Amino acid sequence: MSHDFRFVTGLNKLRLNSKCLYCGVKLDDENRSVEHIIPLAVFKWSGRDSEDPYFDLINKAGYNVFWSCKRCNSLKGNSVPTKHEINHLRLDDVSMKHIRYVYSRYKVDIDSYLALKSRVLHGQDDKCACCGRKLIAGVDDYSLRRIDDKSVRKVWNACVVCENCNDSFKYMRRRVLDVTVVSSNG
Ligand SMILES: [Zn+2]
Ligand SMILES: [Zn+2]
Repeated sequence: MSHDFRFVTGLNKLRLNSKCLYCGVKLDDENRSVEHIIPLAVFKWSGRDSEDPYFDLINKAGYNVFWSCKRCNSLKGNSVPTKHEINHLRLDDVSMKHIRYVYSRYKVDIDSYLALKSRVLHGQDDKCACCGRKLIAGVDDYSLRRIDDKSVRKVWNACVVCENCNDSFKYMRRRVLDVTVVSSNG
C-alpha cells in the first residue's frame, strides 16, 4: 500500500478551516477545538501511538485532525464514525481522500477497538463501571478506560464508563473497582 504524504499541509490547513466539521457553525477562538475524526483512543489501545511510524503524521499534521466546535467535539466523545458518516463530513476533496485513507489503513485497529469495548462492557454485565447504569450498545455512548491510569492498555486493565462518568472520571475512579471487570490474559 502506498500513499502520497506530500499532500499534508499541516496546521495551516487547520487554521483556514473556519467552520465546524460536523455542524458547520462558524468557529472562533471561543468555541474552537481540535477534533480527531478517528479517536486517538483507537491508536492508543492498539499500540499504534508508539509503534506506527505514521502516527505523528496522521494525527498531528492534518490527516485525522480538524477543527470542530467544542459542543460537537464533546458530543462525539470517543465514538468511531462509520464509513457512511465519514462520507458525509464537510470536507474538501483532498481532506476526504486523506480521512478515507486513514480509515482503511487502520480498519483492523478500529474493529478490534470496537470489539474490545463491547467485550469489556459485556464482562461488566452491560453496566457503567462507575455509576452502574445499564448501557445499551449502539444507543448509549461509552468509553474504554484504563482502571489504573498508570498501567498499560490491556484487556485486564480495561473498563468502560458512560460518557457522563467519563467526563468526571478522575473524581469517580475509585468507584471503578466496585464492579466486576473482565479478567483475561491479553
Ligand atoms: Zn459543531
Ligand atoms: Zn456512569
